[in-house]
Parts: sequence; C-alpha cells; structure tokens
Amino acid sequence: DSSRKRLVIGNWKMHGDTAFNTELLTALRTGIGSAPQCEVAVCVPFPYLYQTRSLLEGSGVTWGGQDVSQHEKGAYTGEVAAAMLADFGCRWALVGHSERRSYHGESDTVVAAKAAAALAAGITPVVCVGETLQEQEAGHTHAVIDRQLAPVLALGADSVAKLVIAYEPVWAIGTGRTATPEQAQEVHALIRQRLREAGAPQVRVLYGGSVKAANAASLFAMPDIDGALVGGAALMASEFLSIAAA
Ligand code: PEP
Repeated sequence: DSSRKRLVIGNWKMHGDTAFNTELLTALRTGIGSAPQCEVAVCVPFPYLYQTRSLLEGSGVTWGGQDVSQHEKGAYTGEVAAAMLADFGCRWALVGHSERRSYHGESDTVVAAKAAAALAAGITPVVCVGETLQEQEAGHTHAVIDRQLAPVLALGADSVAKLVIAYEPVWAIGTGRTATPEQAQEVHALIRQRLREAGAPQVRVLYGGSVKAANAASLFAMPDIDGALVGGAALMASEFLSIAAA
C-alpha cells in the first residue's frame, strides 16, 4: 500500500566500536542523502547513541535503541529509560526482539509495557513478533502472533496507531533462511487484519529475518510488507543502502 511510507531499520545488535561506527554512519549519511524515498533508521547499542546522534543529526537517517525499560525511572540498575533515549534524539526503540524474549525472558505483557513506556516519551516502539521453528512446524504461527499482539493491541487504538510492528520469524533471524515473500505476506496479512480490528489499519508492518540486497525487492513487492528490520546486512553500508533503495 503506497499510502504507508516505507521504512527500513538496521538492528546492529551487539556489534560495533567507535571506529567502525564512524565509517558505517558516515557512509549511510552520505549514501542516503537528505531526502530519501523511504524512512531509514539504525538501532545501535546504547553506549553509541551519542556518537550516532553526532554523526547523523541533520541527515536523512534517524536512530534508536534496541530495547527500553518498561519503567519511567528509579532503582532499575542497568536499565535505560525511554526519556533517556529521547534525550539522545532517538526516534525509535525496538521492543520484544526475539533475542530479548528468549535470552531475557521478556513476556508479552512486559513487551507491551515497554511499548507504552516508549510512547509516553514520544518514541515509536518497533514491536517485534514472530514464531520459533518448533511453533511453525507445529502449525501454531497464527496463535503465537495473536498471543504476542494481544497485550499490545490492548493499549488502545490511539496508541496502536503510533506503533510499528516487525514480523520476524525466529527461524529466519541470522540463519540465512528467509521466509519466502508469500510466507511472510501470509502472516503480514493476519497482522494487518488485527490492526484493522484494533482501529489502526495504517500501522507499518516490517519483515525481518535474513533480509539482504538480493531478496529485499521481492519481499517489498508484497502488499502488506512495508519495509524491513535488518540485522546482519545492516553492518555493511552497501548492503543496507541497497535494501533501502529497494
Ligand atoms: C534481526 O535481528 O532483527 C534480524 C532480522 O537479523 P538478521 O537480518 O541478521 O536475520
């Protein structure tokens, strides 16, 4: 749907250092220019938000965090508040990435609380959902997506309208195994249906899972895929810029 502005977000995960980042961010800044056709963003490790802002401010690339606390402030050692992300000019926060859900035990309710905390600070949460290989093989994909979405949709139409959803089948993340465009579209259509029912049909739904320059265009050709959340390929300027161009 051309009325939804395309969005490509890079998730650097726990990669980078100041020298590497300077090179990559400078290449993105130059490559994207000031008036890109689609929205482009990078979600970097927290310690590099200051560097990222310094290098991207005034460019066509926005930035965000890879997680955010569900709490506003207080005695939460090691956590980062949404207001802190906003203080560093973040436009986005990933919430509920499958690596957070599986390695840090984040439940569907915690993920929804994190989305609400981001919204309260004026940051767009990019809510990640997706089934594991085991769940997919058991035919539970739709049930898993519905379960993960439920507490997020319960935030209400006004909140939901401000979100971005990323569908990331866990079996496709970092594995080199991409969902086929048709497989992805099938789940995106379900998510779109739920968004419609929640009164927020215009929310963008990104696909994530081994997206690269070679497969981006065929995924983006699907009616309910509005862009991508990119892991590995976001660490290579030329790959990431080609995905954004697609
Ligand atoms: C991700 O971590 O969000 C992701 C999609 O990773 P990759 O592109 O490396 O599969």
